[in-house]
Amino acid sequence: MIPIDDRDGFIWMDGTLHPWRAVSIHVLTHGMHYGGCVFEGERAYDGRVFKLREHTKRLFRSADLLGMQVPYTMDEIDAATAETLAANKLTDAYIRPVIWRGSKKMGLAPDPADIRVAIACWSWGKYLQPKDGPGTGLSLKTSRWRRMDPQSFPVEAKAAGVYAVGILAQAEAAQAGFDDALMLDLQGNVAEATVANLFAVFDGVLKTPKPGGFLNGITRQTVIALARDKGITVEECVMTPAEFVKADEMFLTGTAAEIESIGRIDDHKIPLGPMTKQLQEAYSALVRRKG
Ligand code: PMP
Repeated sequence: MIPIDDRDGFIWMDGTLHPWRAVSIHVLTHGMHYGGCVFEGERAYDGRVFKLREHTKRLFRSADLLGMQVPYTMDEIDAATAETLAANKLTDAYIRPVIWRGSKKMGLAPDPADIRVAIACWSWGKYLQPKDGPGTGLSLKTSRWRRMDPQSFPVEAKAAGVYAVGILAQAEAAQAGFDDALMLDLQGNVAEATVANLFAVFDGVLKTPKPGGFLNGITRQTVIALARDKGITVEECVMTPAEFVKADEMFLTGTAAEIESIGRIDDHKIPLGPMTKQLQEAYSALVRRKG
């Protein structure tokens, strides 16, 4: 695998494109020391970024929740995204805009004007693939690490600091031979996976944990709308892990992961089913739709 910092191409940073290997930041960067950093994960299909404005809005909202004022408009960020894709000659790509506090000042009280912005993009295949082989579904291990309480942090911010918990949960799951982690909230109810939201089918009804303690993904919202369009009943509800594993089928959703079946939670096997397939097909058609 080519290291992510040693590639050809261009990265947009602070207003202009730079050669990929030439972008660097100071070791005393505030965003790195204290987590003053928010980002997005987007995908372009056939030259069009799926739901670009929704992602840009969430990026600005995340920045705002962390008290960072973005020194660009949303239109400028959208234009910079298109410019970066074009410079890298990519039509199908994963896109990573990131906003962070720079290195002008140390200590928790930052220089409010020191806000840096970058956008990178690269070809990235499926984020999660079943270790047990294609067609088996992902395996998830219930993590001992819980999602943060909304009273401890604005959980709707896609903030780098939140991922410190995801890294622990992912590593714990991987060490036990699983593909990813099932994360619970502080009350012990089902929340999400490490970078994706969860859905489960019960007697033809599609259920998904009610957001409040985790990121309400753009893919999640898209899938809810697609399902309702198809006449499927969707319920956002509180689910205990014991209720959840009794599902007839189960899948996760995310921009990087797209829609992926779940075949096992801890020792519980989950059958792969038709609703997942139906929604996968509808999602693939939607993201590639022109116009
Ligand atoms: N939860 C977390 C923690 C995530 O990082 C992501 C990926 N952004 C998601 C859920 C899914 O969000 P989306 O569908 O907007 O990519």
